[in-house]
Amino acid sequence: MPPFQCEGIGLTRFIFITGGVVSSLGKGLTSAAIGALLQAHGYTVRVRKLDPYLNVDPGTMSPYEHGEVFVTDDGAETDLDLGHYERYTGVAAARSDNVTTGRIYSEVLAQERRGDYLGGTVQVVPHVTDAIKNFTTADLHGEDFVLCEIGGTVGDIEGLPFLEAIRQLGYDLGPDRSMFVHLTLVPYLSAVGELKTKPTQHSVKELQRVGIRPDILVCRCDRDIPEGLRRKIALSCNLKPEAVVQAVDVDTIYQVPLDYHQQGIEAQILRYFGLEPKPDPDLDSWHEIVKRIRKPEGEVTVAIVGKYTGLHDAYKSLGEALHHGGIANNTRVKLEWVEADVFGGNGSVQALEDVDGILVPGGFGERGSDGKIRAARFARERRVPFFGICFGMQMAVIDAARELAGISTAGSSEFGPCKDPIVGLLTEWRQGDDVQRRQAGGNLGGTMRLGAYPALLEKDSLAAKIYGTTKISERHRHRYEVNVNYKEQLEAAGLRFCGMSPDKALPEVVELEGHPWFVGVQFHPELKSRPFAPHPLFASFIAAALEQSRLV
Ligand code: GLN
Repeated sequence: MPPFQCEGIGLTRFIFITGGVVSSLGKGLTSAAIGALLQAHGYTVRVRKLDPYLNVDPGTMSPYEHGEVFVTDDGAETDLDLGHYERYTGVAAARSDNVTTGRIYSEVLAQERRGDYLGGTVQVVPHVTDAIKNFTTADLHGEDFVLCEIGGTVGDIEGLPFLEAIRQLGYDLGPDRSMFVHLTLVPYLSAVGELKTKPTQHSVKELQRVGIRPDILVCRCDRDIPEGLRRKIALSCNLKPEAVVQAVDVDTIYQVPLDYHQQGIEAQILRYFGLEPKPDPDLDSWHEIVKRIRKPEGEVTVAIVGKYTGLHDAYKSLGEALHHGGIANNTRVKLEWVEADVFGGNGSVQALEDVDGILVPGGFGERGSDGKIRAARFARERRVPFFGICFGMQMAVIDAARELAGISTAGSSEFGPCKDPIVGLLTEWRQGDDVQRRQAGGNLGGTMRLGAYPALLEKDSLAAKIYGTTKISERHRHRYEVNVNYKEQLEAAGLRFCGMSPDKALPEVVELEGHPWFVGVQFHPELKSRPFAPHPLFASFIAAALEQSRLV
């Protein structure tokens, strides 16, 4: 990788978003919301994230560590914030939109081994910082704005090279092309009945210590910040009071762009860059989304039978996609998180008795699989709408194999050797004109079947009706696959393989004949759902759940 050069970047402007005081303040949502607001003024945006941790990507991390792994069309396993970016801006994220310390160092060290730095001492500054700057500015296509979020909190040791890199970028690009937004916390202390600004002041000082002066401060708080306090924050941080924007807790995350707009955040950003904001930007779709969420006409309850139900971030896109299905049907979707373990073996399925739909999401490993198979059986027998996603589809197929096709030893080779591996390790598959090959015991990082793959649906299937087409493309992330050798046997028993890979080798969609709504998909449709364009499968699933709720 050559040393960083500013010239190749075109005219794109960069907005860097950092966070302070504590993590989890919603930097991702703030970045996504600002992106959506700039779009409402007619500008094109790209939203990126720099993650300071040492993993090369989050693909090998437990969902309990890092929440959901968001997969892009081009097969990158990325931070869940990229899901927010896509949901708010509609711009499909790519591998070049998320980079970690691990990936930067892999790259720099590989160059060192190749001899690219021959004769030189390889150092954090300038080699690592140059690599970060190159990543931040690579693969752009004339976007008006890049919003670049820095993971972690100002003051973290591991974040320093990233802050140094964006400081340098700010200098290289100049203030005409770069801006810094800092998100902090203004906590309310109930003992004294006051909002406190000191943590924000400290956080900004910490940022200034590394040479970055924020141009806009976004203050997360649980109530309005009085004018006097806003002035106090502004004064101590060298800002105008209007550059201190409050981010008050909201009942729905889709209210965030509207709240920011009301305080004129994007107008300030545009004026900072010498651009005139539109007097009347188009925010109708955001108003409509919020209205539908706040004033739904119906309500359904969907059980999500999973293994990481204690941490909803592990199923971030899934939860959102279900709510999008609700938006499509003007219905509130109540989520009932059910730990699959509770009805493993002969445990009670009481938790499923009163729900209107059952969803078994993606997952890994044997723990909880019995419960998921049981949930699929319950939905099949009781004719409750059922949606199986990736692992969920695999478990539904195992249930159908055992109970409908009479293959009592049906199982998945993910759980160890198995007499009838209805679900087996995927060792070879087509990707465009290439053949991908894997073997048992190979590397775990980045080696699954990842990213967008096409599938063909049978014309008269429910899936084709729902999609309104027979050719689809969806994102994948799995190592195991329903074994096509059992297709005939399972179809004879009523489980139709109505969606296949174009070479007919890999089952992509299954449906249960004679059931009101029983669909299993090998891919992750939740990753492509947007509040203003709910994914058709989720819209249809919630419509079926609504029907079900009317039956009982
Ligand atoms: N563990 C399964 C596999 O690797 C399913 C993965 C998933 O649900 N994303 O095939």
